[in-house]
Amino acid sequence: MPPPSLFTRIIRRELPADILHEDDHCIAIRDINPRAPVHILLIPKPEIPRLADATPDHQKLLGHLLLTASQIAQQHGIGDAFRLIINNGEGAGQTVFHLHLHILGGQKTSEASLGF
Ligand code: 5GP
Repeated sequence: MPPPSLFTRIIRRELPADILHEDDHCIAIRDINPRAPVHILLIPKPEIPRLADATPDHQKLLGHLLLTASQIAQQHGIGDAFRLIINNGEGAGQTVFHLHLHILGGQKTSEASLGF
């Protein structure tokens, strides 16, 4: 068995995090190194390493993540202007290999570079 991911260890409460949302399928935490005034990570509980590893079995879960991201953005005052980013693979800047959505907001899109 491979060791649990960093995010699985947070989900299991083995590591600390500022948890903003949790349901049966996902958890949302504040990013430890925020790249925007609001920077939240939304993480599915199953350990899918990259979006490219998701299968049709994950379709409902992926839809749930998008709807939940929108709700979380609203709850944090950025419901009218937020960005969702998924880095897929090392070449795209992914550093934690457990699928996650970055929810970013609180600054004008023009002020934020594409690489955050
Ligand atoms: P990636 O680079 O894989 O797209 O995103 C990983 C994100 O996880 C980064 O934005 C990084 O700041 C965040 N991160 C890394 N380690 C921790 C941690 O221990 N706690 C929290 N809350 N965020 C983390």
